[in-house]
Amino acid sequence: MKRALSISIALWFSLISLSLYWNLLKNREQQTAVLMQTARSFFQQVEITREWNASHGGVYVPITDITQPNPYLKGPRRELQVDTSLTLTQINPAFMTRQISDIAKKYNNIQFHITSLKPIRPENVATDREKEALRIFESGTATEIGQIISTDSVSSFFYMAPLLTRAPCLKCHADQGYKEGDIRGGISVTVPFTIPPPSLHLIIGHLLIGGVGLAGILFFGLKLTNVYTMVKNQAVIDALTGVPNRRNFSERILEEVNRHRRQKEPLSVLMCDIDNFKGYNDTYGHSAGDVCLSKIAQTIKKSLRRPSDFCARYGGEEFVIILPSTNTTGALSVAVTIIENVRELAIPHNQSPPSLQVTVSIGVATAEMPQVISHEALIKEADMALYHAKNSGRNCVKVFWN
Ligand code: GH3
Ligand code: MG
Ligand code: MG
Repeated sequence: MKRALSISIALWFSLISLSLYWNLLKNREQQTAVLMQTARSFFQQVEITREWNASHGGVYVPITDITQPNPYLKGPRRELQVDTSLTLTQINPAFMTRQISDIAKKYNNIQFHITSLKPIRPENVATDREKEALRIFESGTATEIGQIISTDSVSSFFYMAPLLTRAPCLKCHADQGYKEGDIRGGISVTVPFTIPPPSLHLIIGHLLIGGVGLAGILFFGLKLTNVYTMVKNQAVIDALTGVPNRRNFSERILEEVNRHRRQKEPLSVLMCDIDNFKGYNDTYGHSAGDVCLSKIAQTIKKSLRRPSDFCARYGGEEFVIILPSTNTTGALSVAVTIIENVRELAIPHNQSPPSLQVTVSIGVATAEMPQVISHEALIKEADMALYHAKNSGRNCVKVFWN
């Protein structure tokens, strides 16, 4: 029963742990999905801006300290002199992306990186991670990539999607052998984020459910254990007298006879019967008879001194006592003690002369070594000794002699 309770508790906690693990996993998945969507939106914004730029064939901005003419841009109109104080330079989508990337990095630490396996500008060379992503795009197995990159100090979300060659792009990139529709490179978006600690309410919730479940298992488990023990006891304890029943005795005598054979020690059996008990019932009533029976049973039990001594209700008003490692002298002494203790109870019984109180008669049988005897024979011998005690006037002990 205790084993079943332990298994139930272990199963319950495995279930709770599994549920917690699954919920945390789902949380992480949701978090990744949100990061993916965020990074994808950034990429799409940049793509839209690039398309706007390309649709105008590049845009012109004033040359400043920060915006110098793009040395990798070909064509006759890279610079346009408006007047003596203003010269404009052409900004193509790639150059614009780099400038947007610088601003994004300054404001929210988000990094865009325009890259290619064959970059025109050396700074655009792909990192190992980007190269791997570009190869995946070229193989056609994925159209975007998103993954959490964790280092000791920071965590970031790396996203990358390919840049497809469109007609305006060929102006600068045709020399590299690109055709319309080819994957020319990609833009990676790196979004820094802090991994939030595992959701506290999820852990507390699971702890609470686990605790309530454990209390329930313990409460009902212990109740069940008690019922189980009660049923088990009922099967081996006599309900009226509270001493072991005959079934219990039958098992015990077998064990003791076997032990007696193994250990080569004497074994005694006492058969004890209340005298004139029919008359007691007739005079005082059956209920009083039940009370008397119970008192006698408890008195016999208290008269036994060793933990291995055993008494049981054999049937009706008859009790049987097993005394392991006890010879005839010892058994006789226990029997006399029982007789005296019953006498001391001084239960009135006006149909039991000459004492006019409840008494018992006892038959003693002992299996001495090296005598090998069956339990049936030993019981029969004790019964015969009891018969002899009854015939000798009751309220006495008789020993079986061969
Ligand atoms: P003896 O001295 O020869 O043993 O006489 P006795 O009257 O005790 O023996 P007998 O076998 O004639 O009667 C036994 C009586 O025990 C009969 C029965 O009513 C009574 N008895 C057996 N079991 C119970 C019980 O559980 N409760 C009560 N109240 N009486 C019982
Ligand atoms: Mg009797
Ligand atoms: Mg009897």
